[in-house]
Amino acid sequence: MKIICIGRNYAAHAAELNNPIPETPLIFMKPDTAVLKDNKAFYHPEFSTDIHHEIELVLRICKPGKHIAVEFASKYYNQVTVGIDFTARDLQSDLKKKGQPWEIAKAFDHSAVIGKFIPISEAYKTDGEIEFSLLKNGAQVQHGFSGQMITSIDALISYVSQFFTLQTGDLIFTGTPKGVGQIKTGDLLEGFLGEQKLLSCEIK
Ligand code: ZN
Repeated sequence: MKIICIGRNYAAHAAELNNPIPETPLIFMKPDTAVLKDNKAFYHPEFSTDIHHEIELVLRICKPGKHIAVEFASKYYNQVTVGIDFTARDLQSDLKKKGQPWEIAKAFDHSAVIGKFIPISEAYKTDGEIEFSLLKNGAQVQHGFSGQMITSIDALISYVSQFFTLQTGDLIFTGTPKGVGQIKTGDLLEGFLGEQKLLSCEIK
């Protein structure tokens, strides 16, 4: 199983970090050891003093495919949840300055928190959007809609499948809306898809 992540897929988030909007999707990956699920606590590692939460829609691939056309992409995923792409922003800034890869800032153990998956058909609101949000200590800090993505879910599936064969069980993190911020020991993060809470993660 692999985890494919998309960076800068919401204009307001790219702007809050002073990043340009990429011309093609920005892709990075996390190993399966990054997964944290079943509402387990996240233990803050010592190598960073500035880990940020990034709430994202996460799709689960349901059949193998490569070179998938956009019009058939929706047949390749059938479940969705919210996830948190934990990012060591201090390490990432340093790596970006040096022009180096991001892995240690993005792909460390338990940096890919995933909630409970639900069928994609249950996730859409009547207007065809998927709405999601993150609460930190009970207050909403991030809120987004699938329609705000710069590259749509189906276009992302098509794009990444040009480079990587998608396999059943692979996860796609689709980018974060604005409102990313630092986590501290004692924080409680709760991820919602619409009104439904699918993720809870205490920071220890
Ligand atoms: Zn992210």
